[in-house]
Formats: sequence, structure tokens, C-alpha cells
Amino acid sequence: SLSDSNPATQKPQTPQKQAKKKKEKLSALCKTPPPIIKNKDRIFHRGVSLGEGGFARCFEVRDLNNKQFAAKTVAKASIAQEKTRKKLLSEIQIHRGVSHNNIVQFVECFEDNTNVYMILEMCSRGSLMDLMKTKKIILEQDAKNMTVQICAGIKYLHQEGIIHRDLKLGNVFFNEDYVLKIGDFGLAALVGRNKKYTVCGTPNYIAPEVLTGSKTTGHSFEVDVWAIGIMMYAMVFGKPPFQCKEVNKIYEKVKTIDYEFPVNKGVSKEAQILIRDILNLHPQMRPSIDEILDYPWFGSNFPKKLSYTVSGAKDVNGN
Ligand code: ADP
Repeated sequence: SLSDSNPATQKPQTPQKQAKKKKEKLSALCKTPPPIIKNKDRIFHRGVSLGEGGFARCFEVRDLNNKQFAAKTVAKASIAQEKTRKKLLSEIQIHRGVSHNNIVQFVECFEDNTNVYMILEMCSRGSLMDLMKTKKIILEQDAKNMTVQICAGIKYLHQEGIIHRDLKLGNVFFNEDYVLKIGDFGLAALVGRNKKYTVCGTPNYIAPEVLTGSKTTGHSFEVDVWAIGIMMYAMVFGKPPFQCKEVNKIYEKVKTIDYEFPVNKGVSKEAQILIRDILNLHPQMRPSIDEILDYPWFGSNFPKKLSYTVSGAKDVNGN
């Protein structure tokens, strides 16, 4: 997320190559934290690595009551630049101020000589991206349930004046009980007077108005609604709608809304109608979060709980 994603200055690149470059940059800077991490009188025992991202590594930690948390660790060496430091401070400032059942809870944050630590609610079931890797597609009834939870979290953020700006399968997590938690506030923006014009986000989820940079309107809360549409499509069809090897080709497709609904995938008409309405070129024409929840797709009965369960994590087909 720190890399230059401005399509104008970018060489043809695959999303995979971008991710690899990022990881190389990170591993050069980030050392494994000590086995015991201290914040004044609070002590955390470090456990296994949970994964790494653009500029952070996550570790499982336990406090003295044996309560589990995720520690997002950023090497101080990687925030030497003013710009990067400001970005991390903004992430912390926005994330620490929010609290909702469908948002990864920020617990506390502190530093030692080498790292900055953000202690977060533990999401032991991993991300929706991880789930998709094993499931390939998400059953529509589960996709409905997850979409409702994503909408609840995003509605809350929007009411607080926060645009997430990096909603994607990899930033949506599950706790032990499969309650959905939106995480990663690295690109989030607090909106007040000034609208945001910078190009950011992940190619597959980027909204067209962000690419065309129509400075007359700026871009706003509607970019999160767009990303919800992309996630819905990705869940029920198994891949994002504008999927392409080259980033620039993805951008071209996004700007012309060039995607199709695969036939014979058994996805309901109601799901397709909602996705179609969300993926509108004009941000103002997209449904609001409340309007999304009024769509017929949610009308039919569907289980209030995900079919992934604490015991065995099976779906209704027994997979
Ligand atoms: P990025 O740098 O791409 O924003 P993060 O630093 O947020 O990624 O997270 C890196 C990895 O750590 C994620 O891919 C995920 O697997 C894991 N992770 C992040 N947050 C949590 C959490 N709250 N609970 C469990 N695992 C997490």
C-alpha cells in the first residue's frame, strides 16, 4: 500500500510483482520482536507470526491473563521518512478512535527501540482472502451474511466521518466465532472540509472516479461502496470482476466498467442486480449502505449465522 500506484507513472506491472517487491523491502527492515514485549506495566508474550503485509508484520501475543491479541509490528527503520511516519500515525489515530462489533478492535499501542507495536483484537480465523483460498467460492447465503456485517462496519465508519479506502478480501478478518471484523486502517481518511484526491488502494478494488481523478467532485464515501460490490462479486464468482494480469489493463476495465457475469455459475439474479447497481461509474448513482440492505437479495430467508462454525468449520455442503 506504500508503493506508487499512480497509473500514469507506472510501468506495466502485475499485482503479484508489486506485492513481491513490497515484501522484499519489508523483510530487509523488520526484525522479529523480542519474546517479551513490555508497555509500562503491561507484558505481552510473543507467539507465532500471523503474517506480513506492506510494511508491518503481525504476531500472536498473550498478556499475563493468557488473553490472545494480534500485535501489528512496524520497524522504526521503515518509518524514517516523514511521509511514512505520518501515514502510520494517521492509521493509529483513526483506528484507536473507533469501536464496533464488525471492526478489528484497537487495544493499545506503544514502542521500544526498534519497533512500534499496535495491539489488536485477535482474528484467529484469518482473512476472507484466506477463506477464499480454501473454499474457492463463498455460498450465497454466507456471502449475504458477510455482506451484512461488512455493511454494518462500514456504515459505522461513515457515520464517524471515516472512509476506509482499502476494503478488500485480505482486510476483512474473522474472530474465533467467525464474526466478521474489518481491519487495516493504513489508507483510511477522516473527512472534513477537504476531499481526498490521491490515487491509492489495490488495483482490483479501485473505483473509477479515483483513477480519473475528477477533481470537481473528489472521491468520497462511495469508494467503500464500490469495494463492497467488488468483494460481493469476488465471493460469489471466485475472482474479482476486473481481474487481469496487468495493472494498467485492470484500470482500463474499471474506467469502462468492463466486466461480465459468468453464466452457469448458479449465482442468483438478485445478487447480480445488486452488484450491477453498486458497480456504477457515477459515485452518486451507487446505492447507499442502507439502500444496499434493502435489496431483494437480502429479502429471502438466510441464516443469521455463517455456516462456518467453531467446530469443524463446515459449510452446508459438508465441505
Ligand atoms: P498490510 O501491511 O498489508 O496492511 P497487515 O499488516 O494489516 O497487512 O497484516 C499482515 C497480516 O497479518 C495479514 O495478512 C493477516 O494475515 C495478519 N493479521 C493482521 N491483523 C490481524 C489480526 N487482527 N488478527 C490476526 N491476524 C492478523
